[in-house]
Amino acid sequence: MSSEMRHKVWGPSTVAVHAGEGKPTRGPLDEPIVLSSAFRFADADDARDAFLGENDAYIYGRWGNPTVEALEAKMAALEGGEAAVATASGMAAVAGTLLGLLKSGDHVVAPRALYGESARLLRERLPRLGIRTTFVDGNEPDAFEAAFEETTRVVYLESPANPTLAVTDLGAVAERARARGIWSVADNTFATPLVTRPLALGVDVVLHSMTKALCGHGDAIGGVVVTGAALRETIADTIVKGLGSVLSPFAAYLVLRGIRTLALRVERSCASALRIARWLESRPEIARVHYPGLPSHVGHAVASRQMRGYGGLVAFELAGGMDAGRRALDRVQVIANAVSLGDARSLLTHPASTTASTIPSSDRELAGIRDGLMRLSVGIEDAADLLEDLEHAIR
Ligand code: PLP
Repeated sequence: MSSEMRHKVWGPSTVAVHAGEGKPTRGPLDEPIVLSSAFRFADADDARDAFLGENDAYIYGRWGNPTVEALEAKMAALEGGEAAVATASGMAAVAGTLLGLLKSGDHVVAPRALYGESARLLRERLPRLGIRTTFVDGNEPDAFEAAFEETTRVVYLESPANPTLAVTDLGAVAERARARGIWSVADNTFATPLVTRPLALGVDVVLHSMTKALCGHGDAIGGVVVTGAALRETIADTIVKGLGSVLSPFAAYLVLRGIRTLALRVERSCASALRIARWLESRPEIARVHYPGLPSHVGHAVASRQMRGYGGLVAFELAGGMDAGRRALDRVQVIANAVSLGDARSLLTHPASTTASTIPSSDRELAGIRDGLMRLSVGIEDAADLLEDLEHAIR
């Protein structure tokens, strides 16, 4: 669904509050949750015209729902895209996009640092369909170009990446891909559209797990894909009509409500994350801090160009390794021992003993997931309380 032109003159906080919602007519101020799987036609002509695409009648919930479309319009406006398609989860957005753009025999180039399930899709599942991926160092735009082959169709990016917060120069990679007729796709979950806007940097498709900061309250699972006009039909057709990965109107409502406060939440969590990252860097218990806002981060210069604020996630390595990591999980009180990210609550994970525990330790090391690595999603609590909680956890 297209965003309205008026949104282009609004600042991002105003877009987050207003875009897509609240038709300027008498009626509910809040977006109604339309829980109808099918829609009644006015008469036989109306039904026929709906199927011919000659009117804008809703037909069936998998093909369109007013609550879901309001969210899609808000996301298209926030990312500066022409069209958005909401999906049942972030992984449905990742899988649907790749299945929509790729066919057997095609090749993908992606950075080594990626969300685990996306990496698994590229490494294990897509090869079963005849689709190969070459993994490269995400810090080096030239490494992507060097990996391009005749059959390369997609460059798949994620910046900052999960869980190591590696940063990729999205504009530089997208430019190299475009010059060869290759689509670029970026997972913007960690940054949010308030921090990075990949489409404006030249990326063709941007996607999100809306489960995270967009929803912001940890009470809904969802995803979204935002594109320019060229890929609108390809993506919408594959994901929604072809694969049936539709978002429920109730989840759409929760995410819509969450996005209204996105700007405030992101501002607070970026500020607290920077403060926490600096504090962690000064602590003897910590071997290394990974945060794009620190000059010590290898991607700091790129992050300073392509991000507005450095995001709400901080990764750090405890010198005490596996035991220290597990102990920290047991000791936090304000911060929750839980997976996911982008929540109003701060969340701490120890990938080596949880999310990445099934990866052999040698492969974990290669992916930068050392035994003492912790990933902290900084919420909107008082930073002083988070620092005190962390001090107790790592001491
Ligand atoms: N992309 C990133 C960067 C993620 O961190 C996640 C989940 O953690 C996903 C995609 C998948 O999203 P979902 O859990 O909504 O399927």
